[in-house]
Amino acid sequence: MNRQCVVCGEDAVEIVLYDSAICADHKAFNDRGYVAILEIDVLGTKFEEDGTILPQNAHLLGPAAMIKRKEAKRILGYNDEKMAEFLFFVDKGTISFLKSRTIHSN
Ligand SMILES: [Zn+2]
Repeated sequence: MNRQCVVCGEDAVEIVLYDSAICADHKAFNDRGYVAILEIDVLGTKFEEDGTILPQNAHLLGPAAMIKRKEAKRILGYNDEKMAEFLFFVDKGTISFLKSRTIHSN
């Protein structure tokens, strides 16, 4: 497989959702209950009628992180159930915002 991890860009070991793949390190995170959050260009992304985004229609900007699935659901809200097992798309700037929040709440 010569796909790249959606989180870090390293060589992927497994396709987790549609055509999105993940590397061994981030697969381990996912197995422990973490999901990927990926920043997108909202204007360049095609949304489905119910407001969800298919990975192949997302215009990724690059920044990505992994957070606990239940935290993602609480903070980021609705997501397709199947998608919520693995990834959430977020607006530009969300990851740096979450990081600043996490530091303060610790
Ligand atoms: Zn990775």
